[in-house]
Amino acid sequence: MTKVEYKHTEIAAKKKLGQNFLTDRNITRKIVIASGAGPKENILEIGPGFGSLTKEIMACNPVFTVVEKDPKLAEFIRGEYPQLNLLEGDFLETDLESLAREKPLRILGNIPYSITTPILFRLLEHRNCLLSATLMMQHEVAMRIVAKPGTKEYGILAVQMQSFFDIDYLFKVGRKVFRPQPNVDSAVIKITPKKDDPVEDADGFRRFVRTAFHQRRKTLLNNLKESYNLESVESQTLTLRAETLLTEEFFQLFAKLKPLPS
Ligand code: SAH
Repeated sequence: MTKVEYKHTEIAAKKKLGQNFLTDRNITRKIVIASGAGPKENILEIGPGFGSLTKEIMACNPVFTVVEKDPKLAEFIRGEYPQLNLLEGDFLETDLESLAREKPLRILGNIPYSITTPILFRLLEHRNCLLSATLMMQHEVAMRIVAKPGTKEYGILAVQMQSFFDIDYLFKVGRKVFRPQPNVDSAVIKITPKKDDPVEDADGFRRFVRTAFHQRRKTLLNNLKESYNLESVESQTLTLRAETLLTEEFFQLFAKLKPLPS
């Protein structure tokens, strides 16, 4: 286990908590600039760690909220940045609705890679609370988010994220700028909720996308027939596989289906 020391605090970096600390100020600066974070905004940072990104955010907005799960790092942040609103706990259990009650949140974070997809789906569920989220994640997941139809990366994550967010792939980050070094490359992505949801029943749409991809190699007909009435869908469409459909085609198809009583 790698020990990381900073300003008299030493921790054994925990893989489970995705503790890979950024050491390059150019990168932290680039992340904050790209996030669009400005003064007077309601900012939330996920996993401040030793504060490398926190420090840069403070340069443009001195008071904001951070959520840190590791008690030792929370204590470090409390001592180093007493003016911040520190929530000691799990981002996945943080009450985003109440944090966003007055102003939508601008989220930033070099996020724990072990929980990247749960974080993304949580942001998706709470998209009404967000201005944007600018996140560093493993490069491979970033590629699955921006994937195009017909590629092996294109799946549930791409369709659900691209349906409800505008997505900017910002830049790739090599493993050398972290301590300890992760064994994957990283990328920074900015997601901004679309002004309006593309479908009325967002939860139903998300269920439909999961069902359509249930077995990737199967046709839409085979994946959907047990859960939906497909009468109004052209038979030609049903011979396709989910991985070939654009998000717009998912919306069109969804509009023609009726869920069967389960
Ligand atoms: N932002 C810092 C640290 C990144 S490492 C930097 O760039 O250097 C990821 C951070 O997220 C660690 O501080 C880790 O303790 C914290 N973390 C891990 N799981 C978390 C969770 N579920 N909720 C909040 N913070 C978490």
